Amino acid sequence: MTAAPTRRPRLGVMGGTFDPLHHGHLVAASEVAARFDLDEVVFVPTGRPWQKAAGEVTPAEDRYLMTVVATAADPRFTVSRVDIDRPGPTYTTDTLRDLAATRPGSELFFITGADALEQILSWRDVDELWRLAHFVAVSRPGHTLDTSGLPDDAVSVVEIPALAISSSDIRRRVREGRPIRYLVPTGVLQYIAKSGLYRGAGGHPSGEE
Ligand code: ATP
Ligand code: MG
Repeated sequence: MTAAPTRRPRLGVMGGTFDPLHHGHLVAASEVAARFDLDEVVFVPTGRPWQKAAGEVTPAEDRYLMTVVATAADPRFTVSRVDIDRPGPTYTTDTLRDLAATRPGSELFFITGADALEQILSWRDVDELWRLAHFVAVSRPGHTLDTSGLPDDAVSVVEIPALAISSSDIRRRVREGRPIRYLVPTGVLQYIAKSGLYRGAGGHPSGEE
């Protein structure tokens, strides 16, 4: 008797700055996991995003810890340090190559918001991306994605329940003393309060927006 063909593990990859991680990220990961029958979603906090200058982003270790706290209760969710431990700015091709090397045989699904995907597509090495992973663009309120011109089957679009939550809005709320409860997981709320992140003019390194 021949053994039944083994199914390749299906690994979702959710890259982000996670400054901080919020319920929009968790809902997107959960929705894509269900839709694509993923075994696991690994959250990968960026080192320094290549689009953002040094000093514009909260230290990687704080963002990493908030991501761990936020995902700890879900057995499908894990966190990887590949991007924060690699020196220099983060490129998605490096992320996917490094993860593929540590998970040989896995099928990779890169989960990204339509806004972030547009930035990735503006990058030069884009053909390599399609070889490394299937891309899942989650529809994010206020952003639509034009997939014309992309290779067939390279990108799927998944609509998630509209959640107009963004990390920049959360940072602004903390700075202004407005509530963030229910927008972020309780552990993230507690981490922000305890660490003093995002408070006051110096709370976020650049005072951006
Ligand atoms: P910022 O406001 O600082 O840009 P953000 O909320 O976009 O932060 P990121 O860490 O940049 O958070 O996002 C990581 C990924 O999650 C990106 O692909 C982004 O498009 C997606 N994403 C962020 N918020 C949502 C949301 N509410 N719904 C769906 N996807 C989201
Ligand atoms: Mg963003």
